[in-house]
Amino acid sequence: MSNHSDVAIAEQLDAADPLAKFRQRFVIADPGLVYLDGNSLGRLPKTAANLAGQVVQEQWGKRLVRGWNEGWMDLSARVGAKIAQLIGAQSREVIVADSTSANLFKLAAAALAVQPSRRRILSDDLQFPSDLYILQGLIDLLGQGHRLEIVASPDGIHGPVEALLQRLGEDVALVVLSLTTFKSAYTYDMAALTAAIHKAGAMVLWDLSHAAGALPIDLNAAGADLAVGCTYKYLNGGPGAPAYLYIRQDLQERLANPISGWMGSNRPFEFALDYRPAAGLGRFLTGTPAIVSLALIEPGLDLLLEAGIEAVRAKSVRQTEYLIDLWEMLLAPLGYRLNSPRQTQRRGSHISLGHSEGLRIDQALIHDLCVLPDFRAPDNIRLGIAPLYTTFTELHAAAIALRAAIVERHYEKYPAAAPHVT
Ligand SMILES: *Cc1c(COP(=O)(O)O)cnc(C)c1O
Repeated sequence: MSNHSDVAIAEQLDAADPLAKFRQRFVIADPGLVYLDGNSLGRLPKTAANLAGQVVQEQWGKRLVRGWNEGWMDLSARVGAKIAQLIGAQSREVIVADSTSANLFKLAAAALAVQPSRRRILSDDLQFPSDLYILQGLIDLLGQGHRLEIVASPDGIHGPVEALLQRLGEDVALVVLSLTTFKSAYTYDMAALTAAIHKAGAMVLWDLSHAAGALPIDLNAAGADLAVGCTYKYLNGGPGAPAYLYIRQDLQERLANPISGWMGSNRPFEFALDYRPAAGLGRFLTGTPAIVSLALIEPGLDLLLEAGIEAVRAKSVRQTEYLIDLWEMLLAPLGYRLNSPRQTQRRGSHISLGHSEGLRIDQALIHDLCVLPDFRAPDNIRLGIAPLYTTFTELHAAAIALRAAIVERHYEKYPAAAPHVT
């Protein structure tokens, strides 16, 4: 083995890491566990653990219904304004509500409603399936002959940019893409693609779930129309924490929320019998926000804002490159394939390695080797890097474990059938 695969290199990289001190701001319940699934569920910030007690005991326990006038009513917008700083939006362009899937439904429906003469929707086959399911369901519900075109990636890794550009035309209403795709971490050029989509007269909806908190995003600079994203991955908001949505300022008054509930009406506590939308983005709220989970999003955002998203991205790039180096030296000879882009600019913050025994290797990593990645069919072992707490030493340990899973035949113990949650 060459020097570069030596653990001493990893230790030097950790020692020189300007973000190293952020790891201790998270709860690390099991220091022996190499957690590489922060792109599925981010770790718990220590301040969030404290805040949970405060919100439940003090706010709910003592203030009871008075809490609504003591900060709860404004929380969706206030937390949204912090997310806005991470995604290049103005504070009044982002609000927290519902789930990513529900927000995608609301925004896609609103976008189609203002473009009645256009019937085509474009997405790609790297898209998170829920996004496609939502669009398919919306099309059925509308019954107006809309068509979803799922454009195929050339290799299952890279976004089909050329094919998407070719499909743009007068009848395309909406393009829905993940900025960073969930399997390969391919990352689109948001500014270039948004410009091309606008030139064709269509609107774009970016799903930021796998990008926000991992890389700088500038929705305003790109002129993006719409975006959604979840808060429980790189934003460390907690399991099932509510999602966010973005609508460019000048579009807000033109778009209508198809799920027009009281929290999005102009005066919820007048209990008027006819719906009137709130001014601005507030109209895209629907029902009562989940205050406890919503409140717990803020500590993770504060950590990211304190670290600075440029510094987070710089470390993420160093770490994905380091892992690719390890793959090349230690893992490629054992049949692991790199299923993520080589080009830095086009890569997000996880590395997918394909292997014909991928699912069984994944089980061996989890049960025998103290490494927790996740698995995405057909053969991807996803190694998520969350720069606020992932160390180079952990990446080194993961590579050694991936090697051991094959060399020491750990994977042979496991059946080829998938458990329920991978
Ligand atoms: C994680 C993720 C989601 C999650 O959607 P939920 O409605 O929160 O379950 C949606 N889209 C993408 C691209 C994701 O990565």
